[in-house]
Order: sequence, then C-alpha cells, then structure tokens
Amino acid sequence: MPSSNSTQEPEPKGRIEIDGERCKGCQLCISACPKDLIEVSDRLNAAGHYPAVPKATLLCTACGMCWQVCPDTAITVYRNVKEDNA
Ligand code: SF4
Ligand code: SF4
Repeated sequence: MPSSNSTQEPEPKGRIEIDGERCKGCQLCISACPKDLIEVSDRLNAAGHYPAVPKATLLCTACGMCWQVCPDTAITVYRNVKEDNA
C-alpha cells in the first residue's frame, strides 16, 4: 500500500533572537506573536527580570509583530531568503 512518507520538515520562514539582557520581561512580544512562539524564561537576567525566550523557531513566519511591540529593541527578526542561483 502506498504511503505518503513525507518526513521533510517545512522550511522555516524565519527566526528570532532575543537579547535576554536588554529584555525587561514586559511580555508584550508574547501577546503579540500570532504563532505563540515566545515564552518567559525561568532564569533571571542581570537586571532581575525574567526575559522572553523563543519557543520554537521552526514555525516563525518572520512577521515582525514581536519586534514591533518590543519597547527595548531586544528582538531581532531574521527572514530566510531562498538563493536562486540556477
Ligand atoms: S516574527 Fe512573528 S511569528 Fe516570529 S516570533 Fe515574532 S511575532 Fe512570532
Ligand atoms: S517585548 Fe521586548 S522587553 Fe518585552 S518581554 Fe518581549 S523582548 Fe522583553
């Protein structure tokens, strides 16, 4: 019986990095992410805040919503681009 054994991971559209030392733990980015990809760290930063951390970057669409709402410019969004050298 034929089976659709397609185990290929979908190509991620983007990813984010959060500077845990700039973050003041306001959680605005957590509320803003439509994919629910950001959570609160269980480790304090040097300023005594629990910073935001990315959950799973594979689903990130690089929409930039988290970046837009961050008051401390702690988030960098990277958008993956396909190189077309053919
Ligand atoms: S760029 Fe968009 S999808 Fe990716 S973590 Fe930020 S808000 Fe979520
Ligand atoms: S919006 Fe910025 S400062 Fe607020 S929790 Fe997210 S990364 Fe930290």
